[in-house]
Amino acid sequence: MLQQDVKKVLFSAEDITEKCKALGKQITEDYAARGEVPLLVALLKGSIPFLSELMKYIDLPVELDFMDVSSYDGTESVGEVHVIKDLDRAVKDVNILIVEDIVDTGRTLHSISNLLLYKGAKEVRICTLLDKPERRVVDIDVDYVGFNCPNEFVIGFGLDFNEKYRNLPYIGVLKEELYQ
Ligand code: 5GP
Repeated sequence: MLQQDVKKVLFSAEDITEKCKALGKQITEDYAARGEVPLLVALLKGSIPFLSELMKYIDLPVELDFMDVSSYDGTESVGEVHVIKDLDRAVKDVNILIVEDIVDTGRTLHSISNLLLYKGAKEVRICTLLDKPERRVVDIDVDYVGFNCPNEFVIGFGLDFNEKYRNLPYIGVLKEELYQ
């Protein structure tokens, strides 16, 4: 039934699993080479399916924490996010790996990275399942990217339209008539 609302599938459940295996391996090797273990900080709610899949393939004793933020509506300013749910733990001297569903303009992650560094994090790296590089407004370093995403509004595997479609097991494009 949900399937009927999807115009096309961009990344299948199998594509995503394979990508998570590769990313998890890369993250494991990178941090192990430096003798470090990241704190995985997932941004609610969209990154939950990605975090769940990715962390199975990170062979390090990672810990998890969660943040929920929203952008201030109607402002073009950079670096303004409203923290709805903050991390449970202090981050001073901690190596943080942010796990995000999609990077679009880059504003959200730019703000969160700065906030975490301001709080004393030793380092903030970013791992995103999807990236829309041509939409970038703020220059940020994204350390791990699953897939480059075409400039279309995508849903599924955590990504929503009006809070729906997060539970689709793949990433797809919604039919246009459902926006109007
Ligand atoms: P940024 O601050 O990088 O512009 O925005 C990132 C956030 O915008 C993502 O966490 C996500 O919530 C939302 N977003 C950007 N592009 C899409 C998209 O194609 N589909 C969905 N569902 N959300 C998107």
